[in-house]
Amino acid sequence: MTYGYSGKILRVDLTTDKTTVEQPSEIFYRRYMGGGALGAYYLLKELEPGIDPLSPGNIIVFATGVPTGFPLAGMSRHSVISKSPLTNTIAESEAGGWWGPELKAAGYDAVVVKGRAEKPVYLWINDGKVDIKSAENIWGRYPDEAQKTLFEELGDKNVRIAMIGPGGERLVRYAAISNNLRHYNGRAGLGAVMGSKNLKAIAVRGKNRPKAADMTALKAIIKEFGAHFKESPALIGLNTLGSAGNVNPLNEDGQLPTKNFRTGYFEEADQISGEHIHETIFYKAEGCFACPIQCKMAVKAYEPYDIDPEYGGPEYEALASLGAYTMVSDIHAVSKASELCNKYGIDTISTGSSIAFAMECYENGIIRDEDTGGIRLKFGNAEALVKIVEQIGLREGLGDLLAEGTKRAAEHLGKGAHKYAMHVKGYEFPAHDPRAKQSVGLAYATNAYGADHMSTIHDPAFSPGLSKEALEPMNSFGLLDPLPPEDLSEEKVRFFYYTQLISSYLNALDVCMYVCYPMQYWTTSEFINVIKAISGWEVTQW
Ligand code: SF4
Repeated sequence: MTYGYSGKILRVDLTTDKTTVEQPSEIFYRRYMGGGALGAYYLLKELEPGIDPLSPGNIIVFATGVPTGFPLAGMSRHSVISKSPLTNTIAESEAGGWWGPELKAAGYDAVVVKGRAEKPVYLWINDGKVDIKSAENIWGRYPDEAQKTLFEELGDKNVRIAMIGPGGERLVRYAAISNNLRHYNGRAGLGAVMGSKNLKAIAVRGKNRPKAADMTALKAIIKEFGAHFKESPALIGLNTLGSAGNVNPLNEDGQLPTKNFRTGYFEEADQISGEHIHETIFYKAEGCFACPIQCKMAVKAYEPYDIDPEYGGPEYEALASLGAYTMVSDIHAVSKASELCNKYGIDTISTGSSIAFAMECYENGIIRDEDTGGIRLKFGNAEALVKIVEQIGLREGLGDLLAEGTKRAAEHLGKGAHKYAMHVKGYEFPAHDPRAKQSVGLAYATNAYGADHMSTIHDPAFSPGLSKEALEPMNSFGLLDPLPPEDLSEEKVRFFYYTQLISSYLNALDVCMYVCYPMQYWTTSEFINVIKAISGWEVTQW
């Protein structure tokens, strides 16, 4: 028995309407583990070189990790891996929520989908049994309506559903996949890959939780976390403001990308901060499977925009990309734009970046009033932000061009527009300024996915001025002398090299970086005890 896993991988061919099950050996699991690494295995082995990401031949993998589904903070995640229609290269995007743990309980560690259904379908995985069912009644519907219909159809409100919205159906190149309406595999257009396969959703339900090799050791770890997590300085802020608590500190350090990355400081940042959300439209704190940290802040409002808390609330990346990139400081407008991204199922980072790009093109006369249908696309125009998000989700007006992403939009516009497209390999920059964090800059420049902020430990984790204990996790890699974030010496390159490996390790495990990271509750070396207790494997961080 392979502890931690269900031991089965589901294969689905939507062209032939056939499903099969693989039962890999323990060596396979130990070698590929899960998440991004497991997905990369299938892509490298089976994908034809040069394949169009939106063609039936592309493969999309939904994979859990070793600890996914165990009742411990941060073990809620799953990865989706495919060839991206945005970047034309491999992409991986992770989500929290409940879907990953439920997939394992339903009997599968991963689902590998290829082909294209003739008509819209959804997959129904119920305690090992698999059905490919018609989704014609939910195609074209928003996720909240579609979810309600599926709950009724399947007779169970606790079914967990990964699904696409109208943006994925319309093949927006950065369409996302949601689960429980508010947890997202947001990046790289993996929702468009589902849309291209006529796959609206994957619904999962199961009763068989995975088993650990050493339950006594795992229980002790769970007990210890419950007793002490509130003392962890890193988790205190998360528990009260969520990731939105990063807006003000990053701005004060000149690290909040503003005005399409022209600067790292936004005069009105406080208006889109976690603190301001708490004073105005905060509704309730929420979290993921088995996680007491509850770092997700749902928001609600009626005026001037009706904002539905069913779609959660804006996290740091959404506030920065839809707010600071566009210089819109109206928290109602930014939150409405974020809610619309979730409703249409499109990535907040690429959406904000595409609109900021269009604003800079508008300021420079490359996009004109006749191209926008009369919308004055100036930086800071809150109304324009909300309207253009809708246009992107529906691929209408200027939104149809922006739905292609900044790289393709710039190529179409010409006239030097490429200077304003902030991307690497077509992947829009997330809200971490590479000029202020040089290791992040190296990740943007060299990562296989493109500009990915999850592919290195961020430089401040190794800054001078931190305590000896805080720096210790890096010491085991031979990184002994702290480095300023803006440093770009050979030592920083070494830091990047090793922390890129650590990031791969976190991706393969699908563990939430808010609980396991060099400066989090568990350092990456401490977390090995969790993996040992679950898998029974003799493993080290290396
Ligand atoms: S820390 Fe936040 S994102 Fe991570 S698992 Fe817990 S609730 Fe989810």
